[in-house]
Amino acid sequence: MNSIKDSILRINKELPPATKLVAVSKFKPSSDVMEAYEAGQRLFGESRPQELALKAAELPKDIKWHFIGHLQSNKIKMVVPYVSLIHSIDSAKLLYEIDSYCSRNGIASVDVLLEMHIAREETKQGFSLEEALPLLDGIADSNDGTLSCVNIRGLMGMATLTDDMEQVRSDFSLLLAAKAAIEERRYPFLTSFDQLSFGMTHDYKIAVEMGATLVRIGTAIFGNR
Ligand SMILES: *Cc1c(COP(=O)(O)O)cnc(C)c1O
Repeated sequence: MNSIKDSILRINKELPPATKLVAVSKFKPSSDVMEAYEAGQRLFGESRPQELALKAAELPKDIKWHFIGHLQSNKIKMVVPYVSLIHSIDSAKLLYEIDSYCSRNGIASVDVLLEMHIAREETKQGFSLEEALPLLDGIADSNDGTLSCVNIRGLMGMATLTDDMEQVRSDFSLLLAAKAAIEERRYPFLTSFDQLSFGMTHDYKIAVEMGATLVRIGTAIFGNR
């Protein structure tokens, strides 16, 4: 097993400038995060609100935290104050509840991605394109034609869990097609819709090739969970 430091250095060196590494530290101790931090890593991903809040409180303040897990409405307050991006908006209800939370609490803006269902498995969360478009239409047709403080920055997706890399490629291409279809609608409120979060330990090389701006890598850095 390579050290955390070596893995951070190696992966960051592999990535083109347009692709950023989100080091997924979920279930790993703060000491592991610090080892990655000391290798220069500043962007980390967490998937549980409590764990994120604890780590954010005790670790250096120049860390950028991304939330990548399923978020329940009652945990919004444990996540929004600490994060620079939420990758995993998987329902209209959650999107509107975060928007209401930031507007009530004087938080100027919260960057989010819409999680798209691109895998073959039924179990994975996320929107289909047929669900995402009416959601965006609804925002455009609302009184202000925009959200109060939530800024939709792009899309996130997870491929089918398989060794069949052709399947993975075809799942990822659905994400690219969804982004293109949304861009084609020219929603006025999507002013910086430029992020694509896809690719994990076993498929990030394909994701990089296909234009991911964020890859979320845990196991290849921190070992098995
Ligand atoms: C855990 C997790 C990852 C990291 O997965 P690895 O296979 O360990 O790289 C990426 N994205 C999400 C949404 C996750 O929950």
